[in-house]
Amino acid sequence: MNPETSGAGALPPVGAAAPEVPTHGPGADAVHGTRLDPWLHAYADRAHSMKASEIRALFAVANRPEVVSLAGGMPYLEGLPLDALGEMSHRVLANRGTTALQYGSAQGDETLREQILEVMALEGIEAHSDDVVVTTGSQQALDLVTRIFINPGDVVVAEAPSYVGALGVFRAHQADVVHVPLDAAGLIPAALEETLASLARAGRSVKLLYTVPNFHNPAGVTLSAERRPQILEIARRYGVLVLEDNPYGLLGFEGDPIPAMRSLDTDGVVYLGSFSKTFAPGYRIGWAVAPHAVREKLVLASESAILCPSNASQLAISAYLETCDWRGQIKAFCELYRERRDAMVGALAEHLPDASWTVPDGGFYTWVKLPAGLDSKAMLPRAVTARVAYVPGTAFYANGEGSDHMRLSFCFPSPERIREGVRRLAGVVAGESEL
Ligand code: PMP
Repeated sequence: MNPETSGAGALPPVGAAAPEVPTHGPGADAVHGTRLDPWLHAYADRAHSMKASEIRALFAVANRPEVVSLAGGMPYLEGLPLDALGEMSHRVLANRGTTALQYGSAQGDETLREQILEVMALEGIEAHSDDVVVTTGSQQALDLVTRIFINPGDVVVAEAPSYVGALGVFRAHQADVVHVPLDAAGLIPAALEETLASLARAGRSVKLLYTVPNFHNPAGVTLSAERRPQILEIARRYGVLVLEDNPYGLLGFEGDPIPAMRSLDTDGVVYLGSFSKTFAPGYRIGWAVAPHAVREKLVLASESAILCPSNASQLAISAYLETCDWRGQIKAFCELYRERRDAMVGALAEHLPDASWTVPDGGFYTWVKLPAGLDSKAMLPRAVTARVAYVPGTAFYANGEGSDHMRLSFCFPSPERIREGVRRLAGVVAGESEL
């Protein structure tokens, strides 16, 4: 399941609800596995910290056609030139099949890495293709970076709220996530400084600052140009590496992109990019740009995890970038998503005037604060019954906060469906107030 839709609730540890009946393992009187999971005694600690989503079952229902899903972060792919892409894939296999279907370099295809430099130049990043590591989506890059830096108990500082899939990675590696608030201009420098100072006083080992600076998932806000150098300076002073996760940066609705944090600091930032939102997630191609020594570790970690990213996917994306008008395609996506954003905020203003929400300048999401006293997690089953779905705010916090918020995505449904979804949601909210 897409981590976008999976949520991050607090289920009991794997198998915890199962009866404690030993079925395997040495020693007749020791409690080991259970009937539901005979290997419960054998898991590593990190497996116990992996949690399934408590709202997963609801999302199975939410995917039914009668439900308007404002939950998932799935890009709208109907706009892609699918016939041309089909021919292109055919040509890749016909002309370069033995390369496309072969193992490749752990760092990624050299030509694609060169092309990625062109993509990143749009956000002011100057790098060398040697600095780029191609990954299986930026999700794998998140895992690799966490794997090479985090010991159990190390701190990752992250925005409040934060991308649910990143929180899942940090939890799987037994990091302690400490949230720092953001506002309409993104992560708040003074709050970051205060948090890092207090963690330093407590003697905590803070390894990473995880941030989504552009069109934040889920908050919809963008880190202002003024704050970027301030955040970098604070992180540098405390010896904390910045993990800049930027899958949405080119999906802005007005003006030029703000220069990436990586464009301001080559030594203190690991930058993550992805083709998932600007092209298509199905190829599963993302990338990391890292300081030289970190890049070496990333390649080793990736090699041990997957040997190499898919050559077939890399060559397909490389051919797309070479032969198609990818800049024009991104522009078309921006137009499409802007229209949907307008439908979303227009419908919110009309139907949910007692709520408040962010008005994103790009990307896929708005972050809605419910009228006082409402709990988005408790309300979700009733929303799904009313045939509308969203992600409760608690999914985006490591500490159970966020029940007064929800994330609404405007990327996938048509403007009419968005309006209908918000109308249904308003009916549910009105019903809650009467409960
Ligand atoms: N980071 C953020 C902020 C995301 O929203 C997503 C996907 N929704 C990812 C990383 C992972 O994307 P992918 O693995 O498809 O590149």
